[in-house]
Amino acid sequence: MKTRLFEDMKTALTEEKSKLEAELAGLSHRKPRPNEAGQTFAVQYENFGESEDENASEIAQYSDNLSLEQELESALKDVESAMKAIENGTYGVCKYCKQVISEDRLRARPTSTSCIACKKTLTQEL
Ligand SMILES: [Zn+2]
Repeated sequence: MKTRLFEDMKTALTEEKSKLEAELAGLSHRKPRPNEAGQTFAVQYENFGESEDENASEIAQYSDNLSLEQELESALKDVESAMKAIENGTYGVCKYCKQVISEDRLRARPTSTSCIACKKTLTQEL
């Protein structure tokens, strides 16, 4: 097993995790339990004022935050499952063909769950 790579990836993932959590904390608050969609964070609705313009900006900002939050949370989930995979010893294995994912690919994107060949096949199918 490539212990060195795993150690490096663990470090990278841990850093990524705290970065994502900090960003999420900036625009949402963590709920005690995930909702039905599996989301653990709730976006804060900011109140700018009562005028129509202000209300429109509130909604625009809220929906911006909402999509950003969803993006961040799904990135966080990927990071968490990669960390779990390292612990379970299943990290770095392609989920489709069960081959080992190349070290270069993992270093470039530590949350990769598929090898380049499978990723290519999938992208072409889309
Ligand atoms: Zn594969």
